[in-house]
Amino acid sequence: MHPDASAAAARRCQEARGIPVPGTVSQRLSDTTGQPARPALARAVVDLAAIAHNTRLLAQHARGELMAVVKADGFGHGAVQVARHALAHGASWLGVACVAEALALRTAGITQPVLAWLYLTREEIEAALAAAVDLSVACVGQLRQVAAAAEATGIPARIHLKIDTGLRRGGAEAADWPQLICVARGFEQRGLLDVHGVWSHLIHADRPTHPDTAGQIRAFDTAVAQAEDAGLRPALRHLANSAAALDAPVTHYDLARAGLGLYGIEPVTGAGFGLRPALTLHTRVLMTRGVAAGKGVCYGHDYTTPAATTLALVPVGFADGLPRAASPGARMWLAGERRPVVGRIAMDQCVLDAGAAAAVGTGDEVIVFGPGHHGEPTVKDWARWAGTSPHEILTGIGPRVLRHYQEAPHTPHHLLEGRTP
Ligand SMILES: *Cc1c(COP(=O)(O)O)cnc(C)c1O
Repeated sequence: MHPDASAAAARRCQEARGIPVPGTVSQRLSDTTGQPARPALARAVVDLAAIAHNTRLLAQHARGELMAVVKADGFGHGAVQVARHALAHGASWLGVACVAEALALRTAGITQPVLAWLYLTREEIEAALAAAVDLSVACVGQLRQVAAAAEATGIPARIHLKIDTGLRRGGAEAADWPQLICVARGFEQRGLLDVHGVWSHLIHADRPTHPDTAGQIRAFDTAVAQAEDAGLRPALRHLANSAAALDAPVTHYDLARAGLGLYGIEPVTGAGFGLRPALTLHTRVLMTRGVAAGKGVCYGHDYTTPAATTLALVPVGFADGLPRAASPGARMWLAGERRPVVGRIAMDQCVLDAGAAAAVGTGDEVIVFGPGHHGEPTVKDWARWAGTSPHEILTGIGPRVLRHYQEAPHTPHHLLEGRTP
């Protein structure tokens, strides 16, 4: 027997007798977010040094300021942790989708500017004003609601007017823009609000040099000029996302809003800028079994073993963020190799073909995805297997997966870069 296989067998035997084995799933893992330690079958290890590196890289490319977009719990990485690191390494703004996300940053003690762009109710607006959260405004109805909240609370709102330059998602239509800026100027003169920004969003988020971008820039410039003619003095004009921050300087204006790139996923299709993926999703083998050729595996027996092999059960499934649609092509890193996921990915578990000669046993480390430096699958691989985007893979990581933070090196970045603070 292969020495590793006999070690695994000994370990299995030890476990069968109820003897705790170091480094198995029975180990209680502590969390660094202050949550009580709880056993975890899967861990998302976030490399904060990578977040710091990516922030510095994006900030170096951006001509203006950098907004760290930490919506959806920092793309699954933990919004507060990411925000703190991004702010310490070159970002000066934070961006979130909804007001609740902004309030969570304030509750954590973060005082830097935060912009939220999705809200509906008066309660949300008042909470945003009380917490000094900037709001995006895209139509006169919203503007009136914000002004009314400012009047009622006595807290002037700071807003960013959003112009639609072609994405046709949020934002004011060009035809409605003159009225929006005129009403905004009126409220500004009454001291109810300050139009701090004018902004828009790109159509081709992963191809900022697409010909459509030029038209968006023209539409944006027109909207800004109209706002200035109406007497508004927006300090921040912003249009770029991560990909544009790296690859399309003409879109930079005063600030770039970076999401994906912050997390180390190369955002420009077909190009690399030296970003470092920050998140590694770990799990462990729960049990193994030898099977003969011709045996069906998992629901519906979609998969049949072509030859005798060893199957390894891993305790992560679609509730943990592994898309069920990735089942036919997906791989995980086990015992120094990419091993295929066989059969359908279930809610809580799935099965790897560990290979006939596998020296694999309970407790063995499995990497679902990571930076890819050693050959392990990446977030982009999972996105390809599932026919989706890396954003969806990252934000899909479920609440059962414990977030674990590896601290950034303690050397302040200004020393590394020879800058004074
Ligand atoms: C999510 C989001 C971003 C970040 O985009 P990335 O392509 O991930 O950098 C920027 N702006 C808006 C409005 C967003 O919704």
